[in-house]
Amino acid sequence: MKSFANFSELLERLNPAADTLGKLDDSLLKWLQQKRDTGRLISQHISVPKNLPGGCYAVIDFGGTNIRTAVIELQTAGKSRIIAAHTEPLRCAIYDMTKENVTGEELFEFVARQLQKTLEEARAAEALLAEKLPLGHVFSFPCLQKDINSAQLLKWTKEIRTRGVEGQDVQVLLRNALLKADLELIEPAAILNDTTAVLLASQYRYGCTALAGIIGTGHNFGGFLENMVYTEADSAGKFTAHNFESGDFTDIPENLITNLDTMLDAASAAPGEQLLEKMVGGAYLGEIGRLAFVAAGEEFPELRKLAFIEQPYSLKTPELSMVSDCCHDVAQTGLWLKRHGIDDPSAQACKCASTIADAIFKRAARITAAEISAFLASGFIIKYESRPSYVALEGSLYLKTEYFRKCLFRSLSTEFGIENPCERIVSMPDAVLLGAAVAAGIGGLTQEKTHI
Ligand code: ADP
Ligand code: MG
Repeated sequence: MKSFANFSELLERLNPAADTLGKLDDSLLKWLQQKRDTGRLISQHISVPKNLPGGCYAVIDFGGTNIRTAVIELQTAGKSRIIAAHTEPLRCAIYDMTKENVTGEELFEFVARQLQKTLEEARAAEALLAEKLPLGHVFSFPCLQKDINSAQLLKWTKEIRTRGVEGQDVQVLLRNALLKADLELIEPAAILNDTTAVLLASQYRYGCTALAGIIGTGHNFGGFLENMVYTEADSAGKFTAHNFESGDFTDIPENLITNLDTMLDAASAAPGEQLLEKMVGGAYLGEIGRLAFVAAGEEFPELRKLAFIEQPYSLKTPELSMVSDCCHDVAQTGLWLKRHGIDDPSAQACKCASTIADAIFKRAARITAAEISAFLASGFIIKYESRPSYVALEGSLYLKTEYFRKCLFRSLSTEFGIENPCERIVSMPDAVLLGAAVAAGIGGLTQEKTHI
């Protein structure tokens, strides 16, 4: 890690040279190879079978910021229909389910209540939902998983601290909460990571999928691997879904790390861990931005008046994303600064704000491009004869920040030589819910627990 002497040096560090990014690409490729060779790649051992049953499924998406619940119907030919869906934040002004004083039981009772609301809505819409509903549970944290329907939380990430969940089987916590909420008709059939859910959803809807990336609160990739190392039969035979946990990649080239990253990491819940996620995840980009404004304030005192400057995590990622999306519109940036406490922002202050937002989102997008390039290049990722494979992407940071998408596509084609990125990348806003339903369908097919 190098420190910087002034704002322009900070910006230089936030805009890494192509060869620094190339080094990241190389290390990521080696890392994945090693992880696979040493049996540390987390396999969820599922790919979409041909005989997947249609019908209705209940689903939960527990990603880190919101709890999404839905009832989904899987139809034929990759089609699906959402019958009812609900989103509730995990933390808001009234409650915070992510704090240490909240217990695992309370957290999952909260989840069960959200599902209850969705079911009521679904039942009002469709009379037929009185029978049992298999449930697909997407739980997007590092877990130890031995079968499709249980997962032990290894550690919380994304700054969640709820007590009594680490080390537990989250499906047991969920099942108990469902019983307590009189939801006996809901039958948990599968638990999986969001990367796997997006892989399954993309394979179900489009076929020919190789990689899936989550670019939301957290950051992670997963992929379908040729089924070469595992000898146990899997339901579909040919390939298996793997969760790479790439957000936890820590071998980041020195030149890519700024002292903003180091400060953020030192003050985080788990210093030294999830280092890649801390440079790309929506949980962190706003805070990197705030720290950049603090640094810039040393040189441009006007910026010290910003209302969010003192309070960690008070500059939210969507706010910074808005600035990055209008980074060439000085008037808009001026209005944004005004809203945050600078009455009459100077042209210099506007320039600073847009340059900070631009640099942080562009860096995150280029890091993501390096990952896609590295993972596609690994010899064991699935390839299709008929066409180049799809990379399915999900997560609000990617879906809602136009500037991030633009930088990602540009970096993929100009820095990593990936042709037609617009055709290879598929955006899948509803993929986690759909993938959860597909997994529940697979879980139902494998009545006896599937070995992973
Ligand atoms: P989760 O990661 O909880 O599954 P999402 O994929 O919706 O949920 O991602 C939410 C994260 O995305 C938030 O933490 C926030 O940082 C980021 N985000 C939400 N809205 C926007 C936006 N408009 N622009 C950029 N980032 C956003
Ligand atoms: Mg999510």
